[in-house]
Amino acid sequence: MKNLVVFGPPGCGKGTQSANIVKRYELVHLSTGDIIRKEINANSAMGDLLNKFVSHGVLVPDNIILKEVYRFGLDHLNSKGIVFDGFPRNLYQAQMLDRIFHKKSMRIGLVISIDVPEDVLMSRIIERGKTSGRSDDTIEVMKNRLMVYQSQTQPVIDYYKKCNRLVLIDGTKPVDKVFEEIELIINERLYR
Ligand code: ADP
Repeated sequence: MKNLVVFGPPGCGKGTQSANIVKRYELVHLSTGDIIRKEINANSAMGDLLNKFVSHGVLVPDNIILKEVYRFGLDHLNSKGIVFDGFPRNLYQAQMLDRIFHKKSMRIGLVISIDVPEDVLMSRIIERGKTSGRSDDTIEVMKNRLMVYQSQTQPVIDYYKKCNRLVLIDGTKPVDKVFEEIELIINERLYR
């Protein structure tokens, strides 16, 4: 399987690029944010609980997320590979992912980190908030999401850097240019 992580701060474009990758390489898309939003929109008791975290821009507890990831992984063991979007988001999640995968003789072969400066992220999210309907696409919540990203998610970059799985790309270019770069990296690293 060709498993990869698309990594980066909120608003960097990882959802869009993950969808592009999945289509081009016939992989499956695991977006923890999408799974969470589906639950929230279903108005279930679990959805109400999840919304308390998401609407404040803080991370959902690891045990809830890991259960979903584990289930998704088991359901897609026969796929060509999984694109992880929005996961892992802290060191514990990254370590658990490696541990779960190791047991199944699978691995994350590549981590693509999409780099975008904070002022650009902020204006993208404010723009997206006009139509996304997401309770977390506001200036106040976005400030929190960026803080959480820096303190909890950024350390994951070093984790992947140490084992040579990380590639950084410039996410300020137009969507199709960013994807061209991603394609080059994936072809070189995973399909050589
Ligand atoms: P973005 O990266 O633009 O913030 P996501 O859809 O990836 O959007 O995530 C939205 C929210 O969902 C996060 O702010 C967080 O509250 C929650 N979330 C998503 N993925 C995870 C995860 N792996 N661990 C904990 N919380 C998560």
